Amino acid sequence: MEKISFKKTYSPLNSEEIIAKQKAMMDQKRFEHCIGVSETSKKLARLNNYDEDKAALAGFIHDYAKQIPNEEFIKVIKEENFDPDLLNYNRAIWHGIVGTYFIKRDLKIEDEEILTAIYRHTTADSEMTTLDKIVFVADFIEPQRSFPGVEEARKVAFNNLDEGVGFELAHTLDFLVKNRQKIYPKTLKAYNKWAIKNN
Ligand code: GDP
Ligand code: FE
Ligand code: FE
Repeated sequence: MEKISFKKTYSPLNSEEIIAKQKAMMDQKRFEHCIGVSETSKKLARLNNYDEDKAALAGFIHDYAKQIPNEEFIKVIKEENFDPDLLNYNRAIWHGIVGTYFIKRDLKIEDEEILTAIYRHTTADSEMTTLDKIVFVADFIEPQRSFPGVEEARKVAFNNLDEGVGFELAHTLDFLVKNRQKIYPKTLKAYNKWAIKNN
């Protein structure tokens, strides 16, 4: 694992400060997942002519809020004008969307492109920027992920980013339906946009 650092942080905080704050928010296993997503984001950025350092930073902080308690998420949804419909979902959905609030508050990152990629990293959306797609896909295929189909997901995603998004959404929808989980509307819209085959 290479030592992680960012040339530009899009924040008054420097690279070490961002990394230290992130480390304090999560256990070692989650922290290592974030490093994996960062490295995979960088690789996908290189393949798709996107800013590698910016992708590495967005990938690194994508799960910043993953271990924040439910009560804190609920309080922020109610007090910071998030869509009240979010209360009908759970932390699986909250940590990305509401995570943007904690990233602005604690890491002082205001860059809209980065914040949108964090916002969309779990559910995806019908509209996605290159950075949104990079972080969404990197989260699914980073080296520590091991589930049936991950090798195929890696192959597809490294070959074509949009197809990687579609593959991931089909897999996620399948998983959610099998487990009779509620589908967040944006996840369904994203599936319809990115996962449908033309023939
Ligand atoms: P992680 O934070 O690295 O574990 O990965 P993600 O942020 O991608 O996903 C967190 C969880 O959210 C996964 O278990 C997904 O299956 C789940 N998830 C994604 N979309 C939906 C959805 O529409 N509804 C529900 N209920 N869960 C979802
Ligand atoms: Fe996540
Ligand atoms: Fe993640």
